[in-house]
Amino acid sequence: MNLVEYKKKKIICTNCPLGCKINLIYTDADEVEIIEAQGNTCKRGLEFAKQEITDPVRVVVTSVKVEDGEIPMTSVRSDKPVPLRLMEEIMDVIREIKVNAPVVKGDIIVENILNTGANIISTRTVNSRDSKSKEQKKLKENYDG
Ligand code: SF4
Repeated sequence: MNLVEYKKKKIICTNCPLGCKINLIYTDADEVEIIEAQGNTCKRGLEFAKQEITDPVRVVVTSVKVEDGEIPMTSVRSDKPVPLRLMEEIMDVIREIKVNAPVVKGDIIVENILNTGANIISTRTVNSRDSKSKEQKKLKENYDG
């Protein structure tokens, strides 16, 4: 006779700013089944909990090197969550990337990273170093008359 093993887990739902703390009792013998959940304010918390137990996902938030930019890095994020189990490989890919300035907020830096369906996008604009010095030169010219 196979005894079903009940497991307990506490998770924080990150689907919305409320951040409900959910206490779960579940089984994962064949597939994950939530037996009891307490603390979630809405159904989305249950979906989040199931995903978290089965194959947790996270949004990637990091930065990428910029060549010839007014600053040497731009901040990036994934446009949707990616499997946590791939995070290390994804970070390895991102670490190797260098983009040339200018970079505009919203630019796709990596399309469909590691076939996850998520794009890595820039979350800030970085002008080229050149454009900044041109701008400064123009301002100086205007100031000097
Ligand atoms: S359970 Fe619902 S209300 Fe609570 S954090 Fe998740 S999405 Fe928000």
